[in-house]
Amino acid sequence: MAKVLVTGVSGFIGCHVSQHLLSLGFKVTGTVRSAAKAEQVRASLAALLQPAQRENLSFAIVEDIAVEGAFDSAVKDGGFEFVVHTASPATYAIQDPQRDLIDPAVNGTTGVLKSVLKHGQSVKRIVVTSSMAAIRNTPTANPDGLSELDWNNAAIKAFNEMGAGTPAGIAYSASKTLAEKAAWAFLEQNKCAFDLVTINPPFVYGPPIHPCSAPENLNASVKLIWDMYIGAIKEVNPTLAAGCVDVRDVARAHALALSTPEAGGQRFITSSGPYTQTLARQVLQKRFPGRSYATGETAAVPVPELNAKSKRVLGMGEYIGLEESIVDTVNACIDRFGDVKSAL
Ligand code: NDP
Repeated sequence: MAKVLVTGVSGFIGCHVSQHLLSLGFKVTGTVRSAAKAEQVRASLAALLQPAQRENLSFAIVEDIAVEGAFDSAVKDGGFEFVVHTASPATYAIQDPQRDLIDPAVNGTTGVLKSVLKHGQSVKRIVVTSSMAAIRNTPTANPDGLSELDWNNAAIKAFNEMGAGTPAGIAYSASKTLAEKAAWAFLEQNKCAFDLVTINPPFVYGPPIHPCSAPENLNASVKLIWDMYIGAIKEVNPTLAAGCVDVRDVARAHALALSTPEAGGQRFITSSGPYTQTLARQVLQKRFPGRSYATGETAAVPVPELNAKSKRVLGMGEYIGLEESIVDTVNACIDRFGDVKSAL
């Protein structure tokens, strides 16, 4: 079976992508920042894999994806057929937008491409985990909603104008837009033997399976759901109106992007439907009743995120809905960290 290099295997999405690929029989080499992280990932995945699948998991150390040549040794002599690049900072807890978000996102993405161009002769395809943050655009290019024709150029413009003072959410969107644009530009500017696919998810929820010692250390998107469940969010964000998708569908999309020849050279929105904190609260009230949740309402209306291309080209089929995704997120966190009373 084919060998895949998965960057950021210790992350929420990277771990699910790796587990899914291993369950399909791929051989996965995951990049991690340290040997200790590798052991944590191995332990997290052990119970979810058959013995033969466990043997197909190995690791390569990449301490900092932003450093020039960071992926060279991971790619060299790996004999990979595919690379999946999920590693990128997905956090709003930053001090310096350029250093903490833009540089690792852009240099990390171009760094993978450069290393494969130099050392990865066997690589046929690179799949990059981009984001709806790279797409969100008004007015939309397609009147029915956000499509793969859209680019979040507004985030780049805002970052260029505000620099170090850019709010973290906008800087994150700029980092994802700049990184994805850099990847497509790289393919245009270089004679590559591989092609590129991007997967563009909105907010990703679902059961975390990656190493995480405490709820405070959860990845940003799952923490949003857990914080609503435990009452750490007191009022819903009135302007947060986007889409959502379950991490298991995101993993499936990455695998289908490897195995679908026609996917080459394309971006794919992977969204199950709208997301607001009002909608999330409705699910929590229905499925975890008798608890106090954030007050207020979302005033903004989500722009539809068109997933038709992911169904048509990748064969994604039905997506897991918001309710199942939120319930599974909360239950997985309770299983792992224990239940707590609402702080409200
Ligand atoms: P996580 O924070 O869980 O994972 C991020 C991964 O990237 C981790 O493995 C992390 O390593 C690694 N990483 C980040 N910066 C560096 C660095 N400088 N050097 C080495 N490794 C680094 O986030 P997610 O799994 O949620 O996100 C994964 C990808 O999906 C990102 O590209 C993100 O932009 C994208 N995405 C996420 C969405 C979401 O809602 N979660 C939505 C849309 C896109 P370590 O564990 O050691 O910190």
